[in-house]
Amino acid sequence: MIPATKPYLPEREKYDALLNGIWERNWITNHGPLVREFEKKLSDHLDLEHVSFVSSGTMALELMLKTLPENGEVITSPFSYVATANAISWQGHTPVFADILPGKLTIDPQKVREKITSDTRAILATHIYGNACEIEDLESIGKEFNIPVFYDGAHCFGSKYIGKSLLNYGDMAALSTHATKIFHTVNGGVVVSQNAAQKTKIDLMRNFGHNGLNNFEEIGINGKNSEFHAAMGLAILEDAEMLLEKRKKQSAYYFKNLIDSNFELIQIKNEGETNGSYFPLICRSKQKSEDLIALANEAGIELRRYFNPALNTLKFLNQSSCPVAEDISARIICLPLYHDLSQLEQDKILNEIKKFHG
Ligand SMILES: *Cc1c(COP(=O)(O)O)cnc(C)c1O
Repeated sequence: MIPATKPYLPEREKYDALLNGIWERNWITNHGPLVREFEKKLSDHLDLEHVSFVSSGTMALELMLKTLPENGEVITSPFSYVATANAISWQGHTPVFADILPGKLTIDPQKVREKITSDTRAILATHIYGNACEIEDLESIGKEFNIPVFYDGAHCFGSKYIGKSLLNYGDMAALSTHATKIFHTVNGGVVVSQNAAQKTKIDLMRNFGHNGLNNFEEIGINGKNSEFHAAMGLAILEDAEMLLEKRKKQSAYYFKNLIDSNFELIQIKNEGETNGSYFPLICRSKQKSEDLIALANEAGIELRRYFNPALNTLKFLNQSSCPVAEDISARIICLPLYHDLSQLEQDKILNEIKKFHG
């Protein structure tokens, strides 16, 4: 079976060497030397000034939202992983869904503007598949209404916009370093702040609000991450360029072979560069996408429906109508992509897909 995705593991010796240090120091959590080294190396690698390593991408989203002074509505994309909308609700805000752009699948700034009310506290937009949102338009909406623009950058390790890391945009951004992402720390996430004051607040909140041993600055949570997770991050960071290069090559190979097919491919934002993490295909109908998944399965190929269903249709969230997101999520599938997927396997996948007409 060719799986849809597969987590990357670094050379065992590299990880073991870092573990030896953990045993020598007997320091396994609470902002240890590996966590600090990981934050430093990650910020150098992505050229980001303020990063905070936390326990998950979802925790990064929640901490980011927790910086809002008041609860209210947060305008967000219905085409994302459920964690985006859940984080909003879990923080006591109301997710308000603004539909997506049909080609790029990122939030439509015009729809965002239509959803602004006096209760709007923030915009939380997802750079879906590492494809940059309409950053300038969202920024000007944020400025006009005096609300922050946050990004769910879960997919954005190695994605760029105008030559800079995509995580560098917005008032804050959240990265996921979960095992299924192209760069991972087993479980984990990163809050990217734009200034030292924001970072200080995030760092306090992720550690129960501790400011010194017996002093608490504000309400916090246990959002820290451990030395073991940082060790995995440090080991994989050394392979990051190789991983990105491979993934981009694999994506380009799919692209070259599918550009003239019956499938619709997503449109990458001008001056944007994705990390090639995902290869979404839009089938002509829901039925066709289901038939394709079944056919591929028979041939030993697993296809995933990233991202389905549209979040605005979930019964525990704020239901509303987003026809574009509902339509796209009903007929989108993602092709297998992982570090050691061979060209031979890609050919097999392409053969199966080409037998099938859209
Ligand atoms: C993976 C993912 C998350 C959640 O990250 P975790 O690290 O799994 O908590 C949030 N948003 C999107 C778009 C994701 O794909």
